Order: sequence, then structure tokens, then C-alpha cells
Amino acid sequence: MNRNYLSGRKVLVMGLGRFGGGVDAAKFAFSSGAKVKVTDISSGDKLGESLDELKGLAIEYRLGSHEKQDFLDADIVVVNPAVPPENEFVVIARDNSKIVTSAMNIFFQLCLARIIGITGSNGKSTTTALTGHILTRCAARSTQYANVWIGGNIGNMPLLQRLEDIGADDLVVLELSSFQLENLAQIKKSAFCALITNLSPNHLDRHGTFENYCATKENLFHYQSMSCVSIFNAEDKICCDWFDKYSREQGRVCIKYHPDMVSEKIKKKFPLPGRANLSNLAAAVTIARYFGVKEELVSEAVQDFKGLPHRLEFVREVNGVRWYNDSIATTPESVMVALDAFEEGKILIAGGYDKKIAFDNLGERIVQLSKAVVLIGQTAGQIADSIKKANADFSIHLCKSLAEAVNVAGGIARSGDIVLLSPACASYDMFDNFQQRGEQFRSLVNQLK
Ligand code: ADP
Repeated sequence: MNRNYLSGRKVLVMGLGRFGGGVDAAKFAFSSGAKVKVTDISSGDKLGESLDELKGLAIEYRLGSHEKQDFLDADIVVVNPAVPPENEFVVIARDNSKIVTSAMNIFFQLCLARIIGITGSNGKSTTTALTGHILTRCAARSTQYANVWIGGNIGNMPLLQRLEDIGADDLVVLELSSFQLENLAQIKKSAFCALITNLSPNHLDRHGTFENYCATKENLFHYQSMSCVSIFNAEDKICCDWFDKYSREQGRVCIKYHPDMVSEKIKKKFPLPGRANLSNLAAAVTIARYFGVKEELVSEAVQDFKGLPHRLEFVREVNGVRWYNDSIATTPESVMVALDAFEEGKILIAGGYDKKIAFDNLGERIVQLSKAVVLIGQTAGQIADSIKKANADFSIHLCKSLAEAVNVAGGIARSGDIVLLSPACASYDMFDNFQQRGEQFRSLVNQLK
């Protein structure tokens, strides 16, 4: 299959979005000779930057709503991963024998390079960025690969538009979300090298049950071809079960990783805080080893890895209090990980959009690992209830905004403490996304006197 299959076809890009995926799909289809229409339920004013990117291209638009006729008129519908498969318009397209695909599926079908696919409930972005960083730093001295490309859910590369530059000797490191993996079932294709960091309940509003969510993640391994590599976290029970299952298959190399497999020398040079990041380090080092990178080079590369914004990101020290932005933490597990990463006294700011996940164990861990909690958003009451169950006298502060939460937390914190924004929830009740929440937090902290 090559990109000519789009030429002359009517392509409907469903969900332009603001993170570049829709723009990438639309530009790619357009430059491949397709007749492109873009539809999004958001109105034009909400899609400003994405629309600017497409300016000047002869593309049609249907914004503010979807119309059945557009789906009937199309030959190919490229669906944004945020749209669930049971969406009424996706169903109409499928029932009318349209090709329903996604930008990631097209990439998997057309990419000549070996793909390293990284998924998991937590640690995907850090592991993807660190793997990409090590492999890129060592590319010039490698006989096993040429260039390295980093993209997918991590979102910093319009991969489809770069397809022609990506050579057969290159490596592509992709962060893959459960939404993106769900679609692999249609093309029955997956990565050459697949790695999973861990599994805990997430996105149940979309997947229904934890079992469905895990099955979606498992697509990454299920659809790998013969002579591939599958890498699993030795510290995660379900990942170990998958290791046992897949290592029975002939032709497949299965590897388990653990922080103990990383040398002390490399660990010492690694700048990110917390045990979870050691696990991400072990994951990245395992991939680098598989692709023949020498220990010495890994150790050199690791030391200048800067980490990613909004992930246990140090913001500022004010009057002896250190403020950390972990806005990306949208699950209870990530919050527990964040609380574990620091020895100091902690004031936690949490709460946000209700994704229908349970906070049962979170209250207990907050009581054990922090001094006080400041709660915001839709889930504030639920988190407060779970804390009260663990300790009726724990210091809980309910706030109406992030600005109020920062002020309240600043009032409680004493020199030597840490204030940590690690919400356990998505941000959509009060913000556009976790980036905006983290940026607002950073800016509020930077204004503290
Ligand atoms: P993802 O891309 O899966 O959301 P990130 O690398 O962006 O993961 O990290 C998000 C947050 O998840 C971090 O701030 C941290 O709190 C937590 N986290 C990171 N790595 C791990 C891990 N290996 N295990 C558990 N939690 C982790």
C-alpha cells in the first residue's frame, strides 16, 4: 500500500482538534491528491490555530456540527482518536461501507521504518521521550539504525507529513494511547518493538470496563508480526501474565524489565525524581540495549535528559517551600507515585473532571503521605469522602478555583515542605486540558510573594 491510495478519493477528516493530529491528517490527505473535507463539532473560533495551519489549502469545512451527508459522500473517513467507535456518524460511515481509519493507522500502514510502540497507563510520555532521547543521542554511533523520529500521542511531530523523509533504516518511537491502539484491530498491524509500562484503570468512560481497556492495550502485542520484540514491566502483574503468554510464541523475543537491571552508574546520572521514573529509565534502557546502544553511551545520554513539562516539574522555591507541577497526573495511581517521589512534608492540590474512576485507595495514601490536601473541581467531594473514611480529622480544604487553592496551600505550607499539584483527575471541568491547568499553576506560583 502507498499514499497514492488517497489520490482522487474523497477524504473526510472527522475531528480537527487542537493538538495537531487532525491538521496532520488533513495536510497529508490534501498533499496526496485527495479531495479533503474537515468536520468538527467545535466551532471555528475554538479551532483557530488548527484552521490557521490549513489556510490556503483547498479544503472544505463543516464546523460546529457533523452532518450525515458528509459521511455518505466520503470514500474514506479519518477519525480523530478522541471519537469513540460507537459515535453515530462513525457507525453511519461503517454501515455504508466507507473506509473508516485513523491518522495512526495510516501511519502504521505506510511507514517503512521499524516502529517502537510504547503504551501503558502511566509513564508513556516520559518513557517515549527518554527512549527517543537516548536513541537520538546515540544514532551517529549506531550500526543498527540511522535516524530517530519521536511522535504519536506525545504530539510533537506531524508524522504523516514526514512519512517521505522516514527511511527504512530509521526508528520511529511512538507513544500510543488506548484510543489509538483500539484502531489497530482494523488493520491487524502493530509495532516492530512494543513496550508496556503498566496497567491500571483509566478511561473507563470510553472503554466501559478495565478488561476492555486492557484488551485494547493488548492490541499492541496481539497484532505484532513474527520476529518482533515485546517488552513488559516485570513489576506489573498483568504485564507479567502477558509476558508468559507471548513468550510461548515462536519467533517473538520477549523481555521483562526492572529497575534492578539498570547499572548504578546510569541511575546516578539520571536527573528525574521518584521511583516511577526509575522504572521508566529501565524501560528506555532495555529498548536502547535491544538496539545495540552501548552502556557507556546510554549513561552519557541519560544525564542530560530534561524530563517533560507538567510531570513532577519543579516550578519554584518560595520561602523554603518547593512547588511542583504534576498536572498530567490524571489517575489516582499517578498521584500516589508523585507523593512517593518526595521525602518532604507535602501539601497536595487535587481534584478535577469526573472520569468515573474510584478514589477508594487514594484517600488512605493521601492521609499516609501528605500533611494536608486542597481540593478543587467536580471530584473534590468524592476525594474528600475517601480521605475522611481513612481519617476523619485530616486537614481538607475545599476551594473554588486553582488560584484560591494555590493561596490556601501557600498559607498552610512551612519551610521545607513541598506543594504538589497532582490532581488525580482530568482537567476538563475547569480547563481546556492538563497543559492549560499546569501553565496556570506555574503562573500562579510564579506570582507568589
Ligand atoms: P503518560 O504519558 O502515561 O500519562 P507520563 O510519562 O506523562 O505518563 O507521566 C505522567 C505521570 O504519571 C507522572 O507525572 C507520574 O506522576 C506518573 N508516572 C510516570 N511514570 C510512571 C510509572 N512508571 N508508573 C506509575 N506512574 C508513573
